[in-house]
Amino acid sequence: MTCSLSCAECHAETDVFERRWGAFLTDDEYEPAGVAILCPACAEREFGAPRRRNRSDTE
Ligand SMILES: [Zn+2]
Repeated sequence: MTCSLSCAECHAETDVFERRWGAFLTDDEYEPAGVAILCPACAEREFGAPRRRNRSDTE
């Protein structure tokens, strides 16, 4: 039985659960609130680089 992940943004797939893949809460005006699986690249683009989630710290 395979267990693959598919990125909600770019539809990249992986069959290995890499550490930086993750489930993120989506809650913006364009989409209903829910959980999206995102690859590392999309997660970073959507939510910022890891360990720098505080926007006021980067701008
Ligand atoms: Zn992606």
